[in-house]
Amino acid sequence: MDCIFCKIVSGEIPSSKVYEDEKVLAFKDINPMAPVHILVIPKEHISGASEINESNSAVVAHIFEVAAKLAKDMKLENGFRIVTNCGPDAGQTVNHLHFHLIGGKKLNLQLG
Ligand code: 5GP
Ligand code: ZN
Repeated sequence: MDCIFCKIVSGEIPSSKVYEDEKVLAFKDINPMAPVHILVIPKEHISGASEINESNSAVVAHIFEVAAKLAKDMKLENGFRIVTNCGPDAGQTVNHLHFHLIGGKKLNLQLG
């Protein structure tokens, strides 16, 4: 499949990994918006938040556990944001479900 993030999972495209287990991968965003900007993704290809369903949603809970652990590791005790963009109106540019973990500075509130 021609998916950048599947290629990052397989190792075909290199990335700066910060966490990996059998279900998920976390790596640094190539174009960081803040001092900490990590993408947490399921290894399984799910095209976006609109494709989460009863049979694949467990990985989403796991992603949030990993994000909380990474936020502690990265010392984001002042707070952080977790964002997922879905579809063109939200500006999704990679059609493989991913959660941005952003922090390390005072974040602007831009939700729409
Ligand atoms: P979206 O706009 O879909 O919510 O987020 C996609 C994110 O993936 C962007 O923040 C972009 O910088 C990041 N990205 C795109 N291609 C690559 C890549 O090849 N490597 C890494 N590490 N990040 C990427
Ligand atoms: Zn993919």
